[in-house]
Amino acid sequence: MSVPEMSLTTVLLRPGEADRIVAGHPWIYEGAILRLTRPANDGDVVQVKDHRQRFLGVGFYNSRSKLRVRVLSVEREPLDAAFFERRIRDALALRRKYLPDATAFRVVNAESDRLSGLIVDQYADVLVLQTSSLGMDLRKPLLVEVLQRVLAPRAIIERNDTSGRRFEGLPEQHGLLAGELSDEVTVSMNGLRYSVDLLGGHKTGLYLDQQENHARVADLIRRVPGAQVLDAFSFVGGFGLAAARTGAARVHLLDQSEEALAAARRHAEANGLADRCSFESANVFDWFKARTARGPHEQIIAPFDAIILDPPSFTRTRSAVGDALRGYKEIHLRALKLLRPGGLLATFCCSHHVDAVTFQDVILSAAFDARRVLRRVAVFTQSPDHPVLPAIPETEYLKGYAFEVVW
Ligand code: SAH
Repeated sequence: MSVPEMSLTTVLLRPGEADRIVAGHPWIYEGAILRLTRPANDGDVVQVKDHRQRFLGVGFYNSRSKLRVRVLSVEREPLDAAFFERRIRDALALRRKYLPDATAFRVVNAESDRLSGLIVDQYADVLVLQTSSLGMDLRKPLLVEVLQRVLAPRAIIERNDTSGRRFEGLPEQHGLLAGELSDEVTVSMNGLRYSVDLLGGHKTGLYLDQQENHARVADLIRRVPGAQVLDAFSFVGGFGLAAARTGAARVHLLDQSEEALAAARRHAEANGLADRCSFESANVFDWFKARTARGPHEQIIAPFDAIILDPPSFTRTRSAVGDALRGYKEIHLRALKLLRPGGLLATFCCSHHVDAVTFQDVILSAAFDARRVLRRVAVFTQSPDHPVLPAIPETEYLKGYAFEVVW
C-alpha cells in the first residue's frame, strides 16, 4: 500500500475549497472537486491539490460516497502499516494522558484522531473495530495486524452492523476478526464492574463517551443526602448505578429496551446494588405524560431529588432540528414537574445539530413553562477519548448541564 507518489491519482479541488482542508477538516465532497487527473479505483489512495496544483494531502477515494475523499495526512507519505501504527500510538498516548485508569475506552475516534472512517474501542483485553469508509474497510487485515502489534489484544471484533455503512456501499458485518472470545468481557468503570457481551446481543458495549459524566453526576447526587433518583434513558445503568454506588437511597432506571434493563439488573447485582435499584421498561415520553398530566386543581407530588435525562439523538439531520427541540422541551418540562425544589436535573444532548446554547435555551423555556428557576452547577462534554477538534465541528456532539431547582 506504500504507493509511490508519482503513481497516485490527483484530485484537484475547485477554487475556494482548499481552506477547509488546510484548516484541518478531512472531508472532500463531490461538489468540491474540479477533476481527477485520471480515474481512481474506489478505496485507493489519492493525493489532493488545490486548483493551483498546491499539495494539500493524501487520503482514501470512494466514488460511491458523497464524501469522495477522506484526507488522512497533510504530508506526502504512504498510508501503510507504519503510518497507521504512528496514528494509533498517538491516539493511545492521548488516552493514557487523560484517562490513565480506564479499562474501557475509545482508542481511536475517527476524525478526532485524524483517522476518518476508523473507530476502535478497547474493553479490557478485547478490541472492537468499526470501519465506516471503504478505504478503511479494505484495509481491515492491515489494521488488525497493526492493532495486534500495538495493543496485543486477546481478540479483535468487528462491529460493522451500523446502517451508515450503506453510504459507502458497504454491507453490515459483525464477528470475530482475530483471536478468540467465548465469554463476556468484564471491565471496570467508575469503580463498578460491567460484563459486556461484545459478540452477541443486539446492543452491546457501553456509552464510553459518558464515562466521566457518570462519575461527575454521581458526585453531585452524593451531595443530596438520601436522594431518590430517576435515571431516564438509562441503557445499562451508567448514571444510575454510579449514583447508587455513591450514596443515592433509591434509583429507578427507565429505558424502553428490555435487553438493556436486563443487563442493568445484572450489573446492579454484580456490584451489590440491587437492593437500591428498580428497573422499568417504558417509553420515557409516555411514562412522564402519565405522571404529569393532571386536572386544573390537582397537585403533582414531585417524587424525585435527582433526574438524569440522557436520550438518544432526536435528530440526525439539520432539517429535523425543530421537531427535536420540541421533544427536548417536552421531556424537560415534565421532568421539572417531577423534581422537588432543591433537586438536581442532569441532562444531556448528543445531537451534533443542537448546540449547547440552543440546548440550554430549550431547557430554560421548559423551566419557564413549569414556573421553575434553575441554578446551573455543572457543564458537561464528551469524555476525552472522544476528542473535540473545533476545526472539525462534527467531532463535537455531546453536551450536558446539571441544574438545581432554586424555586
Ligand atoms: N444513559 C446511558 C446511555 C443512554 S443511550 C449511559 O450513560 O450509558 C439512550 C437509551 O435510550 C437507549 O438505551 C435506548 O434504548 C433508550 N431509549 C430511546 N428512546 C427511548 C424512549 N422513547 N423511551 C425510553 N427509552 C428510550
